[in-house]
Amino acid sequence: MNIGILALQGAVSEHKISVQNTGMNVIEVKNPIDLQNISGLIMPGGESTTLRKLLKHSKLWEAIIESDLPIMGTCAGAILIGKSQDETFGKMNIQIDRNYYGRQKESFEKEISVVNNRKFKGVFIRAPAITSINAETKPIAWADEDIVGCIEGKNMALTFHPELTDDLTFHKIWLEGLK
Ligand code: GLN
Repeated sequence: MNIGILALQGAVSEHKISVQNTGMNVIEVKNPIDLQNISGLIMPGGESTTLRKLLKHSKLWEAIIESDLPIMGTCAGAILIGKSQDETFGKMNIQIDRNYYGRQKESFEKEISVVNNRKFKGVFIRAPAITSINAETKPIAWADEDIVGCIEGKNMALTFHPELTDDLTFHKIWLEGLK
């Protein structure tokens, strides 16, 4: 199976290693044509305002809106896949607030609880927060009481950076759903 990784900003090589370690093939997505031979798309973190501009400039914005490719969005990618105060794809019916943790805690690590009683090292970098979900949203990860990861259909939103750990739990959960 080919998995696309949006390669307009950073965090590409880290996601690439994670996906390759699950045994999948990676295609770097820079143009609409790159969407043709992939079974799912990872939208990495970065800066959502810049990412939006780059997506529009490359015409990937319209192409992604029109496609029904499963998407895994991490951090800025999660902002774009959900609904935010700014323009997003809105593929998941969840509300996400940018830069939720403010300046003092712009970056921090926190243990996350995952479905099936697992633990995960959550790396949060100027992270957003999921502030509301819907009946069709399935929460899969929590930091204290807060939902930091969820699934809707074949789409996944994570407010942290799973690609910055060696733990493939979240990549595997998302990829499993594509089969
Ligand atoms: N704060 C960034 C934004 O608003 C997201 C940060 C990240 O992706 N690590 O887009």
